[in-house]
Amino acid sequence: MKLDMLVTEGIGASHADPVLDDAGLRGAIAADKTAVVSIAGDGIGPEIMAAARRVIDAAYPFIDWQEHDAGAEVFAGGIASGVPADTIDAIAEAGLALKAPLETPVGHGGKSANVTLRKLFELYGNIRPARTLPGVPSRYADPGVDLVIVRENVEDLYAGIEHMQTPDVAQCLKLVTRQGSEKIARLAFAQARAEGRGQVHCATKANILKLTEGLFKSTFEEVAAAHPDIQARHILVDNCAHQLVLAPEAFDVIVTTNMNGDILSDLAAGLVGGLGFAASANIGDRVAMFEAVHGTAPDIAGQGVANPTALILSGAMLLRHIGAAAAADAVEQALYDVLEEGRYVTADIAGRHPPASTADFAAAITDRLDPVPDAAWSSPAGGPVWTGPAPAVRRDPRREFDGLDVFVEWHGPVDELASRLKAASTATRFELAMISNRGTMVYPDNRGIADTVDHWRCRFVYRGVESTDLQSAICHLLARVSRVCSWMHVERLQRFDGRPAYTLAQGQA
Ligand code: NAP
Repeated sequence: MKLDMLVTEGIGASHADPVLDDAGLRGAIAADKTAVVSIAGDGIGPEIMAAARRVIDAAYPFIDWQEHDAGAEVFAGGIASGVPADTIDAIAEAGLALKAPLETPVGHGGKSANVTLRKLFELYGNIRPARTLPGVPSRYADPGVDLVIVRENVEDLYAGIEHMQTPDVAQCLKLVTRQGSEKIARLAFAQARAEGRGQVHCATKANILKLTEGLFKSTFEEVAAAHPDIQARHILVDNCAHQLVLAPEAFDVIVTTNMNGDILSDLAAGLVGGLGFAASANIGDRVAMFEAVHGTAPDIAGQGVANPTALILSGAMLLRHIGAAAAADAVEQALYDVLEEGRYVTADIAGRHPPASTADFAAAITDRLDPVPDAAWSSPAGGPVWTGPAPAVRRDPRREFDGLDVFVEWHGPVDELASRLKAASTATRFELAMISNRGTMVYPDNRGIADTVDHWRCRFVYRGVESTDLQSAICHLLARVSRVCSWMHVERLQRFDGRPAYTLAQGQA
């Protein structure tokens, strides 16, 4: 597209100055471009990045691409995070990045550079549109899918806090916070509003995980009350997966916790042609990073045959994020036209036509760029995203102390463990109330579970008075328990404003 067309049609109109000629205008624009860090990545990354930037630049020549490294070569160079300091600084400075896939090396390095970037910049919101694309084979083309999954991106099991508590028992902490839940719920409603969507589903497992997923659900409901114009619904995540396969057209926006979102968003990508077509935005308060969902596809790297659709769609999300909605619409429309026509598409979807190279596919899209998108395909698949103030910090609730859960390693029968712990706790302010194994109560009422492991949760209720020095009382109990067995983990049993802040064991009254 020519520059004068862009200006006439309003794309980048804020840069236009009617008294400048084309060369002068280009000079003025160069001084006022939006800086975006470009990470070409590994495998097919450089090929699809070149294609995506070619299309984006043709629609919106106001981006100052700043090329930086991350991924395999950085790992090989000895940087364990896979992301060098200059890349981190550049992203922090620009606040925007378009990233191609990065290889996670197996056997050295350890950490994923993708996860490093998400955590480093607190990219708490992962926005994954799933939209039926013209010309892309899928079982759900009729009536079509058009939904967005908003996944919490930094908490939950992905906080990565894991321990082997005994040689045979591994634990992962599922951390869900009120602040994190509130931020992602607000982002989901903002996304719905920006895209003119009327409904947000919150998908949780709150029926089983009453405190973690329950906190996510109740926080969602509080945020929903402030958005009466948008229908808010809760759905259990297993049923959500089921309904997505049966009737995906019933969904608009789905907001969910990290692990649920990981699974649901890949499921949703499968409804519209697969991960090769899935775009995403990772949103933080200060930084937004846009990337294709697929990986580095090493089997086809360097051949010029990779499909750049997902990265191009991610680029369109970036354009919307910076307010260049008309350019984003133009990119999507041109892409849809080329996909629908099917004559210049890559091998993975070429069908009866000879496959086009990655570069030819991109060229076909730029040739089709039209500043006035076709209404049929013009609804945004990304939308401007909201980054508002941090959630308010809650007041400190009234706290009461009910007791302790002490997790111990023990290789004998449970009755022997119980009698030893009772004896050990006699001189303390605690009384043994219950022992469970893998969450099921086995003492005092053993309902006959056969498979116990060497990892026991011993629940002690507190019989002392509130004013007692609790730390000393707890240390006293733990010292006594240590004489009987080895403990590896302790949890306080508390009430906040009178409500228990812990769950009962399976089988416990
Ligand atoms: P993958 O790279 O997504 O590739 C799986 C297969 O999907 C490819 O072999 C290729 O299959 C096809 N494919 C994916 N993207 C394509 C594209 N744009 N065009 C055409 N075909 C495409 O998944 P993976 O093999 O599991 O992972 C490879 C590496 O990528 C790993 O190091 C992994 O850690 C990394 N990864 C990075 C990210 C990220 O940076 N966000 C995400 C996922 C994985 P065929 O050619 O056989 O049809």
